Amino acid sequence: MIVVMAAHASPEQIKDVEQRIQDWGYGVHPIYGQARTVIGATGVPEADKGRYMESLEALPYVEQVIAILRPYKFASREIHPDGTVIDVRGVKVGGSHIALMAGPCTVETYEQTWESAVTCKEAGATILRGGAYKPSTSPYSFQGLGEEGLKILKDIADKLDMRVITEVMDLRNVEMVAQYADILQIGTRNMQNYDLLREVGKVKTPICLKRGMSAKIEEWLQAAEYILLGGNPNVMLCERGIRTFETYTRNTLDLSAVPALKELSHLPVIVDPSQGTGRRSLVIAMTKAAVAVGADGLLIEVHPHPDKALKDGAQSLTREHFTQLAADLRPIAAAVGRSI
Ligand code: PEP
Ligand code: MN
Repeated sequence: MIVVMAAHASPEQIKDVEQRIQDWGYGVHPIYGQARTVIGATGVPEADKGRYMESLEALPYVEQVIAILRPYKFASREIHPDGTVIDVRGVKVGGSHIALMAGPCTVETYEQTWESAVTCKEAGATILRGGAYKPSTSPYSFQGLGEEGLKILKDIADKLDMRVITEVMDLRNVEMVAQYADILQIGTRNMQNYDLLREVGKVKTPICLKRGMSAKIEEWLQAAEYILLGGNPNVMLCERGIRTFETYTRNTLDLSAVPALKELSHLPVIVDPSQGTGRRSLVIAMTKAAVAVGADGLLIEVHPHPDKALKDGAQSLTREHFTQLAADLRPIAAAVGRSI
């Protein structure tokens, strides 16, 4: 870390800061400038950095303390230069192949999920999505079928040789949901639920960590760090749109986050254009764009009868739309050196 001394700091005060850093056992590298002195402190362990930074920042003769390394270590590409490929029971997420994850927003009935899943599978999806525990803004809207929904998902996915991605909301349910799911989704509303993040860090089931709707990229990577630090290395990040002043779209799908994350992190990046736009026509266009900017996977809502959907009908693709979209994506993927 770098300590920027205040312009008025006296030689004694500079000495004091140097002494503190030395007493903590770290290297001291001062640069005495004309107007200001800057002190580099080397060897400070990640776990102690925050505490020391705060204590130095509290001194009136210190202007600023800057961390040099990023505040997430295990999520950073600096310590893991190659992109991570996650093995979801034989289906790879990351690498040259783009994973298609599709299915209904919510598991409503066996038939509805089956009809969606069959089309998704035929069009090339390898991972079946569907919510059994739904985080709803309104307590009056459908909350999901719970474990019954998980059984439906698992049964259908097994019959079609697909993997299951589904959301876990409650840390008390992690182990139970993991018995049915191949990927545990952490929803946007729970990205900073640190108890839940710690809990999913204890299992080995791959995690799809959605971006908090108001989260900065750095906060999102720090949330991923909780899971990685807990011992679960299988984390993928999912851009699903953020809150901006725009209300025409449900969220603002931040596709610039995809290449940004690729620079900063080794973790696979998924894009969810369904929650990201809220409108079917836009989902189609933004899915294509997601492939072009380097997404490693896509999470798309498909419903056999969107007009009858209990949730998110307006953003759900019909089966015909999805089949067409999957075909249209292939040349785009090929153009950027990927396959679907
Ligand atoms: C969903 O995938 O249906 C969902 C509720 O996602 P998010 O947490 O991104 O809103
Ligand atoms: Mn949804």
